[in-house]
Amino acid sequence: MKLVLHSNCLLVKGYSRSIICDLGRNNIKLIPNSLYEILNNHKGQTIEEIKTFYNHQHDEVIDEYMDFLSENEFIFFSNHPNSFPELNTKWSYNTKITNSIIDFSPVIATRVFQILNELGSLNCEFVQFRFYEKVSIITLRKILKFVKDYKLPIKSVEFILKNNPIYEQNDLPTLIKNFSRLMRVIVYNSDQDKIIRSEVNDNAFLVYTSENYFSEKCCGVIHQKYFTVNISSVTEAMNHNSCLNRKISIDRMGNIKNCPSMFQNYGNIKNTTLKESLSHKDFNKYWNITKDQINICKDCEFRYVCTDCRAYRENPKDIHSKPLKCGYNPYTNKWEEWTTNPLKKEAISYYNMKEIIQNND
Ligand code: SF4
Repeated sequence: MKLVLHSNCLLVKGYSRSIICDLGRNNIKLIPNSLYEILNNHKGQTIEEIKTFYNHQHDEVIDEYMDFLSENEFIFFSNHPNSFPELNTKWSYNTKITNSIIDFSPVIATRVFQILNELGSLNCEFVQFRFYEKVSIITLRKILKFVKDYKLPIKSVEFILKNNPIYEQNDLPTLIKNFSRLMRVIVYNSDQDKIIRSEVNDNAFLVYTSENYFSEKCCGVIHQKYFTVNISSVTEAMNHNSCLNRKISIDRMGNIKNCPSMFQNYGNIKNTTLKESLSHKDFNKYWNITKDQINICKDCEFRYVCTDCRAYRENPKDIHSKPLKCGYNPYTNKWEEWTTNPLKKEAISYYNMKEIIQNND
């Protein structure tokens, strides 16, 4: 019987170790590069053929590897390995814009319905609102009611809210319960860290975090807790930029951008429609920068499960430089605090991030 890797198990090789992305169960498993080599180069062969290839010098290790793979249900054996085609890793979507970030402010408040309408006409499905000031439940409800009443194609709304003591205990859970498109509410600056799953929708969450997102400069942190492992996000990351692909954003001043943290804008909502800004020659320029093109990341085993950040880079002058706020070193496999890395000092000062770092200490 011949070795077959389940087609929803994707191998990703890093410089000094690899991972199996289990896209059926949405998790990852670290493996040594020697196991990657066996799985990648010897699939469709019998165990005996594999052992012979290595001159029977590593039989015990190969048996251990096979036990590990079988226990985790990553492999099976068949006499017809060619009957099991590999995963199609193409990514496609039928809308030009899939997601949006709106940084709420008095400027945005006066045009929020216009913005939602424009996002609707672009068939944008995911909209995240970030609030840097306290916001009333009435305002949140008005936004959700508009999306619902006007039957906009927005499937998922996310609110990132500053903790507000005037909220009653049931205010946010009720909002989630009453508006099925509200998928996630994150309350930052909270005195607790906890996640509450909606009673009516398994996919909707209320998250309280003691972290502080008081400015757009807080964005772009790369951490294992933000890794996303599912077939859509992984194949998108293999083919496009995992943060900016098909994203349109509006900053607090109403400037239309790829991401509110970025410098370049493509007009202002006061005098430019979202559709007009999309026709700017530079609007798509980050969409196809994959992690395979980014220095250091291209050697990292996590490159298809972590997000990217093009707004804050280790070398601000290099469009292909590693995200500034990543402390992972794929050559040593160690995570270190990015804020204290001396090699990042210049970029931290370039982006004027000292306040962010002090606030998160
Ligand atoms: S080195 Fe790059 S790919 Fe690896 S975790 Fe950091 S940002 Fe992600």
